[in-house]
Order: sequence, then structure tokens, then C-alpha cells
Amino acid sequence: MSVPVQQTSAAERPEELNPFLIVQNEIRKAAELLQLPAAVAEILQEPARVLCVAIPVRMDDGTIRLFRGYRSQHTFALGPTKGGIRFHPQVTLDEVKALSMWMTIKCGVIGLPYGGGKGGVVCNPKELSAGELERLSRGYIQAIYPLIGPDTDIPAPDVYTNPQIMAWMMDEYSRLAGRPVPGVITGKPIVLGGSLGRNEATARGCTIVIREAAGEIGLRLSGSTAAIQGFGNAGAIAAELLSGLGVRIVAVNDSRGGVYHPQGLDVAALVRYKKETGSVVGFPGASRSIDTEELLALDCDILVPAALENQITESIAPRVRARIVAEAANGPTTPGADAILTARKVLVLPDILANAGGVTVSYFEWVQNLQQYYWTEEEVNRRLEELMVRAFRNVYRMHVEKGVPMRRAAYMVSLARVAAAMQSRGWL
Ligand code: NAD
Repeated sequence: MSVPVQQTSAAERPEELNPFLIVQNEIRKAAELLQLPAAVAEILQEPARVLCVAIPVRMDDGTIRLFRGYRSQHTFALGPTKGGIRFHPQVTLDEVKALSMWMTIKCGVIGLPYGGGKGGVVCNPKELSAGELERLSRGYIQAIYPLIGPDTDIPAPDVYTNPQIMAWMMDEYSRLAGRPVPGVITGKPIVLGGSLGRNEATARGCTIVIREAAGEIGLRLSGSTAAIQGFGNAGAIAAELLSGLGVRIVAVNDSRGGVYHPQGLDVAALVRYKKETGSVVGFPGASRSIDTEELLALDCDILVPAALENQITESIAPRVRARIVAEAANGPTTPGADAILTARKVLVLPDILANAGGVTVSYFEWVQNLQQYYWTEEEVNRRLEELMVRAFRNVYRMHVEKGVPMRRAAYMVSLARVAAAMQSRGWL
């Protein structure tokens, strides 16, 4: 049996890039500003429950390989925990814990009845056959079965997991439970109780908060310009939705390179081109190519990082010229860069608000599963609009009233809700 070796732990990275320390720090600062009892930050510094599992999987060649997995449940103050499962060779316990804390804040910003959860399995899914991936997915659910459930902890997809993996996991949970339990996991295929509108939800939520923010700063979206880093689920659909509002998408890129057109790219044609060729590189409708640094510092109104974490760094932040940075990706701005953007009066719409459309429609999926009654896509989008606008208003009001950046304001809105629940339960 070979045990995959855990790679760099989060604690070995420079401090400001350690997600666990970043989220702990933000929780402490928001709690201080809200003058919450010290016990709130103390309790929320660590997940309520963490499970470490070892998953033996029979490989196609007949050998048994052991995989490590984790599930972190941050707080049950507001309800069951909710959050994705990541399959990645560099998953660490610290990262999973931090991401579960992040999910608490994200759910609290929107007002969902959840605490944060997160899971991870140390593996490289690209090196696994479909059969191995299925056995690993089922093995992970067998291992965490006692601690998850539609009333306890509801997983979802994250990096390198997808609707097919969610389907296997839901099926495995249902087998163990001896009955169909669609509400145990979200992000499922539509035929198994997935929600219409989930695929577009993150980009739709991001577009809604950009529209609201533009209204606040007097930016007319029609005729404005945007650059988008990352052209996957979040980035490409945000490009389509923004261009539907009259925004000219002047630059986009993906992992292979980027394209630029000062008059705006034809997004529908670009989506077709990417589908055919696998990349935006070489798109014939572009005037030239563009590299990442230039894209992030482009003279445009709106910048949407929709790829990876830690992209807008302290060296890039002084050169960002956009008026709005909308974080479709998780953690694309380092704390140092965030401070620079704030000082330069760039309006940063933080990930915990800007990409919360995804978990919001995951919540809708769970609600539909529990009711066994399914909504139309229009209904899903209407409710998403309502929750995103309300969340934006709450965060923007806190930002103005307390004179704090939008990120801190979002933490404060969320933490006030979690703390009120803790208080009512008699935990404080
Ligand atoms: P995806 O895999 O569909 O797309 C990612 C895109 O980023 C791809 O186009 C890829 O080529 C590109 N990319 C990778 N490395 C890059 C680089 N160095 N420079 C430029 N582009 C690069 O993933 P996604 O679902 O769109 O997720 C993107 C981000 O949004 C992630 O941070 C994810 O955590 C976050 N997010 C996604 C959702 C969701 O529902 N999809 C929800 C919340 C947050």
C-alpha cells in the first residue's frame, strides 16, 4: 500500500498567504469592530469538528492504495454545515479548516441557514481512471458517513469535483442510509435533483453585485469596460452576462494566455472558440494577445479575477486601474494588495459576497430536495436576485456606516448574524 505524501502545509507558506491565519485574523478584527463578546472570536477561531479519514481504494491493477481525506465543520450556530469537497494533491488539513471557516462567513453574508463546512481528499484525479475515481468518491462518503446528512452537513463540488462525483456520493450515502437522500449533497446532475440555474449561479450572483456596486459609484454599465481573468465556469458566464448588460469585455485570459480587443470581444463567438479549441488563445476576433500582468493592470472599469487565489499581489495592486474589482474567484487578492486597493479607493467586491451566488443556488437545491418540488429556472434566478441584492445592500450599508472596506463589512454582517445565533442558543 502506498500512502500519498502530503505536500507543502499551509503553515509553511509566507504568513499573509496562509488562508487559515488570514481568516482567523479577519474574524478577530470584525468581532472587535462589532464589540462582540471575546468568546465569539475565541469559539470561531477553530472548527467545531474535524474528521481525518484514511480511504483504501482498489486500483485498476488490483493493488490497494490509501488516500487521506478530511471534513471540517466550522460551526452549527446557524444550522447544518455546508461546503464543497476538493480533490487535489495539495489538500491540507489547515486549508480545509480555513475554507470551512470561509464558508461560514459566506453563508452568513447571504443569510443562509448554514454554518461552513469543507472537505478534501489528497489525490490527483487526473491520474485516476473513472472507476478509481468512483471507488474513491464512494470510499470517502463511507468514511465520513457518520458525520454528514441533510440535517447535519451538506457537501457540494469544489476544485476537481463535479456533478458526476456528487451523483456517486449521493448514491453511496443513500445506499448506506437505506433510502434515497437527495438532500445530502448539492451540485448533482439535474436528473438526480440538481437545481436549474446552478451552473450559471456564481457568475449571475457576481454580475448582480457588480451592477449594484456600479449604481452606487455612478458607473454606467452600458458602454463600460471589463477585463476577466479566467474563462471557465465563473469567468466565461460572467463575461456573457456582463456583455448582456452592455459592458464591453476588452480582455480575457485562461491558463494558456489571453486576448484583447479595445472595442470589446464578441463573447458568444469567444465561448464557441474556446469550446472548439480548448483555449481563448488565437481567437481571430481579438486585436492582439495579452499577458496576465497587463490584463490585471488594464485601463478598464471592472476587473473580474475568476481563476485562482493570490493573483492580485502587492506588486500588481498599485497598477490596477479598474474602479471595481469583483472577486469571482476565491481569495484572488492578497491581504497586502487588498490594503493597497482600498487606499487607492478601488471598490473591491470580496469573494464572500461576489461569488456567493454558487452556494446560494446550492441552498435552493437543498430546499427543493427537501420539498421534493422543483422550481423553474426563472424562479431560481428571481430568488437569487433577491438574496444577492439584499446581501449587497447590507454589506454596502455597513461599509458606509462604519467606514470599513467591503471585505471587512461583509465579515461584520456575517459575524453579527452568527454571534446573534450563538447568543440565542446560550453559548455566550
Ligand atoms: P473553472 O475550472 O471552470 O475555470 C477556471 C479558469 O481559470 C479556466 O479557464 C482556466 O484556464 C483559468 N486559469 C487557470 N489558471 C489560470 C491562470 N494562471 N491565469 C488565467 N487563467 C487561469 O473554475 P471555476 O468554477 O470558474 O472557478 C474559478 C474560481 O471561481 C475559483 O477560484 C473557484 O473557487 C471560484 N468559485 C467558483 C464557483 C463555481 O460555482 N464555479 C463558486 C465559488 C467560487
